[in-house]
Amino acid sequence: MGAASPPLLLRLLTLALALAGAAAGRISGPRTPISRDIYHSSDSLLREIKSLVARHSDKLSMDTIRTSNKGYSAELFVVTFNHVKESMDNGSKVHILLSFGQHGRELITSEVALHLLYILTEKPKIAGVDLSSFEKLLENLVIKVVPMENLNGRKRVEEGDICDRRNGRGVDLNRNWSVDWGKKEKDYDPYEENPGIAPFSEPEAQIMRELSRSFKPHIWVNVHSGMEALFMPYDHKNTTPNGASAHLMRSVLENLNRRHFQDSCLVGSGGGSVGYLAHGTTTDYLYDIAKVPMPFTFEIYGDEKASTDDCFRMFNPVDKKTFDRVINKWCMAFLILFEEGLRNLRDVQIVSQGTLENWVPIGGDIVEINVERKSSRDRRKLEGLDLGMQELRTYFRLFLLSTFLLMFMFCTRISKNRNRDSGNLFDP
Ligand SMILES: [Zn+2]
Repeated sequence: MGAASPPLLLRLLTLALALAGAAAGRISGPRTPISRDIYHSSDSLLREIKSLVARHSDKLSMDTIRTSNKGYSAELFVVTFNHVKESMDNGSKVHILLSFGQHGRELITSEVALHLLYILTEKPKIAGVDLSSFEKLLENLVIKVVPMENLNGRKRVEEGDICDRRNGRGVDLNRNWSVDWGKKEKDYDPYEENPGIAPFSEPEAQIMRELSRSFKPHIWVNVHSGMEALFMPYDHKNTTPNGASAHLMRSVLENLNRRHFQDSCLVGSGGGSVGYLAHGTTTDYLYDIAKVPMPFTFEIYGDEKASTDDCFRMFNPVDKKTFDRVINKWCMAFLILFEEGLRNLRDVQIVSQGTLENWVPIGGDIVEINVERKSSRDRRKLEGLDLGMQELRTYFRLFLLSTFLLMFMFCTRISKNRNRDSGNLFDP
C-alpha cells in the first residue's frame, strides 16, 4: 500500500493542477481587446452626438437627465428627433423610443444609435442606397434615442472590466423593473443578473421609467447584443401575451423579418426563445404596466463561436467590415420598423377610432379601459346637456318674471286711467 501511495498522490496532484489550469483558463483566457480604431469611446461618442445636435437644431434636441440615490448618481442623454415641428400636430405623430447600451459590454449598440442619428439628419443613405423615400415617413414620427443607457457601466468596460454588463454599482438594469422582480430561476447568475435591492432601486431605471410616462411611446426598442433576434414580451414566462395587441406586435416583427432579414431572425417572446426566463425586465414592464403597444427587444449581433470570457468578441463585431455590415443592416431595420409600426398603428386607429396618442392595445383589461373612457366621455356629454337645460330653465324663469312685471305695470296704468276717467277728485 505504502508503495502505491506516491503515484496516487501524484495523480491527485496532477488532477488538481489540471483543474486549476482549466479554471485559470476560464478566467483569463484569450480576451480580444476593444477595437479602439473602430469603436468610439463613450466620451467621443457623446461629443459627436452633441455636435450633430448643434448642427441640426431644427430636427434634433438633447436633454441630460441626472438622478442619484444612496450616493450613486447616473446621467442619461436623450436625443429627440422631431422633423417638421410646426407643420403637423405633434399629438398625431407616432412616438418611438430607442434605447441602446443598457448592458455596458454591448458597445456595438451605441454605435448603431450614433449612425442612426446621422441617417436621420445628414447622411440619408445606407450602403449607397438613397433613403429619400423615408423622408415622408419621418414627418410622422417623434423619435427619442437614448444612445448610452448605462454610461457608468460602459465606463467600467472601457476601463478594463470587459465582461461587465451591469451598471456602475453592479446591478443589471434589465432586471431592476417591477414586473416579476427578483424571482430567481435555477440557472440564476447572481453576478450577471443582480436585480438590485428593490424594483427601480437604480437611477438609470428610474429615469427610463419616467421617460415611459412622460413621452408615452407607441414603440419602444431595447437594443442589445449577444445573439440576433427580434423579441416581444414576455421575458418572465415562455409565452406571448394574448389578444389583438400580441397579434399586432407579432405582425410587425414578422413583416420586418420577412422584408429585411429573409426570415433569418428569431422572432417571438424573449422568455420562449432565448432559452431562459428573465424577471424584472424593461419590456415586460413597458407592456404590462406602462401599456406601451409595441415594446421590443432587438438583439443585433452575437459571435456564438467566441469563448464565454472573450466578451468583446462575443458581443461586438471585431473587424471593420462586419462592424459596418451590422450597423447598416440594423439602421435599415429601424427604418422598416418605423414604417411597419406606423402602418399597423394607423390600421388599429381606424378600428378603435381613437387618436394615436391615446392608443392602447385592445384585449383583456384594456378593453375595460376603452369602455371606461367611452362611458366617461358619454358622462361628459350628459353633463353638457344638463348644463344647457339649466340655462334654458333660468332664461324661461326670467322671461316669465319680466312678462309678469309688464302685465302688472300695464294693468296698473289701465286702472289709474279708469279712476281718472271716472272723475275721482279725491287724490291722495
Ligand atoms: Zn444585453
